[in-house]
Amino acid sequence: MRTVEEHLAGILASVPVLAPLDLALLEAEGAVLAEAVAAPVPLPPFDNSAMDGYAVVAADVAGASERDPVVLPVVGDISAGDEGVSALRPGLTARIMTGAPMPAGSDAVIPVEWTDGGTATVRVDRPAPPGHYIRRAGEDVVAGQTVAEPGTRLGAAQIGMLAAVGRSRVSVRPKPRVVVLSTGSELREPGTPLAPGQIWDSNSFMLTAAVIEAGGVGYRQATVGDDPRTVRETLEDQLMRADAIITSGGVSMGARDVVKEVLTGVGTVEFHKVGMRPGKPQGFGLLEDTPIFTLPGNPVSAYVSFQVFVRPALRAMQGLPPEPPQTVSAVLGADVRSPAGIRHYLRGRLALHRGRYTVTPAEGQGSHQLGSLSGANALIVVEEEAEALPAGTHVEVMRLPT
Ligand code: AMP
Ligand code: MG
Repeated sequence: MRTVEEHLAGILASVPVLAPLDLALLEAEGAVLAEAVAAPVPLPPFDNSAMDGYAVVAADVAGASERDPVVLPVVGDISAGDEGVSALRPGLTARIMTGAPMPAGSDAVIPVEWTDGGTATVRVDRPAPPGHYIRRAGEDVVAGQTVAEPGTRLGAAQIGMLAAVGRSRVSVRPKPRVVVLSTGSELREPGTPLAPGQIWDSNSFMLTAAVIEAGGVGYRQATVGDDPRTVRETLEDQLMRADAIITSGGVSMGARDVVKEVLTGVGTVEFHKVGMRPGKPQGFGLLEDTPIFTLPGNPVSAYVSFQVFVRPALRAMQGLPPEPPQTVSAVLGADVRSPAGIRHYLRGRLALHRGRYTVTPAEGQGSHQLGSLSGANALIVVEEEAEALPAGTHVEVMRLPT
C-alpha cells in the first residue's frame, strides 16, 4: 500500500508540462503565461487629465477664491482621443475631459466642480498647485517594464494589463483539456428512465465540473459499459483530443473491473492501493505521453481522488507550482474514529463562530453517499496515525471549491 504523498509524488513527477501556444488574448483566459511581457511604451503614454475640468497655467489661478474668483477666457474643448492639441497661452484656459491630452504650456487641471462650468469664460473659485489632476506619462508603467512574468495565470486583471500594453496575442500554457469517461454497465444517462438495477451516471458530470472548477477544459464522454473492447476503443479515440483522461469505475477488486483489465501493462499505467479513505484503489500512468487517472467508481471516492491527485496534477501541467494548502485549522464538533494507517477524508461543514473555525462531520460517510458530499463544504483530514479524535480536537480541514 502507498501513502497519499507517495502516490501524489509519483503523479507530479511524471505529468508532462503542456507546450506553449500562441493564443488570442481572450482565448488565453485561465491559461498560464509562458513569456515575460514588457510594455513597449509608457502607461499612460502621455500626460492627461484626471478630471473633467479646465486646463490652466497654475500661476494664473494662484489667487483665486470664492470671494475673489479668477475669470479666464475658454479657448476650446479638448476631448479624450483628440490629436494635435494646440498649446495653451498664459491667461487662457481650455475645457478638458478625463483622459484627454494636456495642452503644452498648461500645468494643472481645475475640476469643473470648482468653477461655474462656463464655456465662453469660466469663473475659477479655488487655486490649484502645478501638477494638480494631471496623470503623468509613465506613472503607471514605464517603457520597457515587465508587466507580467512567465508562470502568471491569466485572469481578468492580467488580461486587462496585457491589452493595455498593446498585446493581442500571448504565448501561454493552455488550460489542460481533460476527457472524462465513466464506466459501468449499470449507468444510464440522467434524463432517461432507469430499469431495475440501474443508476444515473453522476461521476462523469461531477468530474467534468471539477475539471472546470480546477481551471481545465472538461469534455464529458458518454458512459460506456463494462466491455473491455468498447473501453479500449473509446480511450484510443479520446487520446487524440485529450491532454489528460479521467476514468471512473472498474479499478477495484471485482470480477469485472474493466479499466484495470484494459489498462494493466499499457503505457506506464500502474494500479495501487493508496492508504486513504475514501479512494483506496487508484491507477495512474501515461498513455502515449497523456496522463490517465483511473479513479474509483464510488462517487465520493472519485471526488476526493480528484481533489487530492488530479487537481494538483492539472496545475503541474500548466507549469504552476503546487497550490498553497487550502487548509484551515478547525475545532472538531463531534468525536471521530478512523482506522490506523489510513488517511481519512471526512465530509464536514466548516463554520466560523466568534472568530474560530469549527467543523462538524456529516452523518453519512459512506463512499456512495453523495448526499452528504453535496451538503459539505470541507473535508476533515484525519492523519494516518490518528485513530480516535474527541470533539474539541484541532483538526486540519480542506476547504472544498464552492
Ligand atoms: P466500481 O468502481 O466500478 O466497482 O463502482 C463502485 C460503485 O460506484 C458501484 O456501486 C457503482 O455502481 C458506482 N458507480 C460507478 N460509476 C459510477 C458513476 N459514473 N456514477 C455513479 N455511480 C457510479
Ligand atoms: Mg463499475
